[in-house]
Amino acid sequence: MPDMPLPQLHIRKVLDMKDLYNRSIDYLRLSVTEQCNLRCRYCMPEEGSGPCREEMMTKEEMVMAVRAAAELGITKVRITGGEPLIHPEIIPICRSISQIPGITETVMTTNGTRLAQYADALLEAGIQRINVSLDTLDPKKYRLMTRGGQLENVLQGIERALRTGFRKIKINTVLIGGYNTDEIGFLAELTVKYPLDVRFIELMPTAGNTGLGQDCYVSAAAVLDALPEAVYEQEEGVAKMYRLPGAAGRIGLITPVSQHFCASCSRIRLTADGKLKPCLLSSEEISIKGLNEEGMREQIYRAIMEKPKRHGPLSAVQRSESERSMNRVGG
Ligand code: SAM
Ligand code: SF4
Repeated sequence: MPDMPLPQLHIRKVLDMKDLYNRSIDYLRLSVTEQCNLRCRYCMPEEGSGPCREEMMTKEEMVMAVRAAAELGITKVRITGGEPLIHPEIIPICRSISQIPGITETVMTTNGTRLAQYADALLEAGIQRINVSLDTLDPKKYRLMTRGGQLENVLQGIERALRTGFRKIKINTVLIGGYNTDEIGFLAELTVKYPLDVRFIELMPTAGNTGLGQDCYVSAAAVLDALPEAVYEQEEGVAKMYRLPGAAGRIGLITPVSQHFCASCSRIRLTADGKLKPCLLSSEEISIKGLNEEGMREQIYRAIMEKPKRHGPLSAVQRSESERSMNRVGG
C-alpha cells in the first residue's frame, strides 16, 4: 500500500493580535547585530560590544522567528541593530524576511554610512522604506558624536537612496542639548529641498550614554520653538507630523521622554542574541535562541502577553531600567 500523506496541522493565522491592554501588536523590530562601525555617544560605549559571540542568532533562526511572529499577527518588520549593513548576510536576511507570507512591510534603520553601496540591493531584496540616522550637518560635529564617523558617507548614502526608489526615506535626528539644537532649522530645511521626512527624537537616558549629563536632554517642543511656521498635519505611528510651507517632506516629533506613547505601542523586539523584549525600556527578556519554530511561536506569544502597560519612569535624570545600551536592543 502506498504511503498515505500525513494530514497537515495548520495553526490558524492570527489577524489582529491584541495584548492584555487591547493594543494591536503587529510590528517586530529585529536587531540583526549588536556590532556597529560607529560609536555614537548617546547609544553605546567607546569600547563597543566586544567581539561577535557565538550566542548570536543565525540567519536561519532570525527567519524562523519572523515566520513564527507572522503567524501571530506580525505584519511589519524593521531590521535594525547595531548597524544592520555590517552584517555579512544582510541582503539574504532582508530577502528571506520580506518573502515570508503575512509580512507586508519590511523596512530598515541604518546609520547610512554604507547605504550608497547597498541601496540598490536592499530595494531588490524587498526593503520598502529606509530610516537614516543623521544628527548634524557639520562634519566635525558628526565625527565627534559618532567617535570617528565621516558625514560625507551618510550624505552620499541618502542621495543614493533618494535616487533608488524607496517608498519613503526618513531621517532620524536625536536632539542633544549643546550639540545640535542650533541646527534644527538646517536639518528641517532638508524637507524643503528633498522629499524626505526629518524626525526629531528626544534623547533617552539609557545604559549606553551614562557619560551624557541631564543638560543634553532637550524636549521636542524646542523644535516647534525653532520652527514657528511648521503646521501640524497628523499623528503617524509614534510621531507627530508637521510641514513647513511648500515643503515636499515633513517634520516629525518623537517624544519618548516628555510624552510616552505606551498606550498605542504596537511593537515587540528581538535582540541579536535572541532575546524577546516586550518593551524597549524594561529589563524583561525572553530567550528564543536554540528553540524550534513552535517553541519560538510560544515564546513570542508570551512576550506579547507580558507587554507591560507602560515602561518604568524615564526622564532627563531617571535612566531606563534596561541594562542594555541601545545598540544591543535595536533602537
Ligand atoms: N545603527 C543604526 C542607526 O544608527 O540608525 C540602527 C540602530 S540605532 C540603535 C537605531 C536608532 O536609535 C537610531 O536612529 C539612533 O539615533 C537611535 N538612538 C540610539 N540611542 C538613542 C538614545 N539614547 N535616545 C534616542 N534615540 C537613540
Ligand atoms: Fe551605531 Fe546606530 Fe548606535 Fe550610532 S546609533 S552607535 S550608528 S547603533
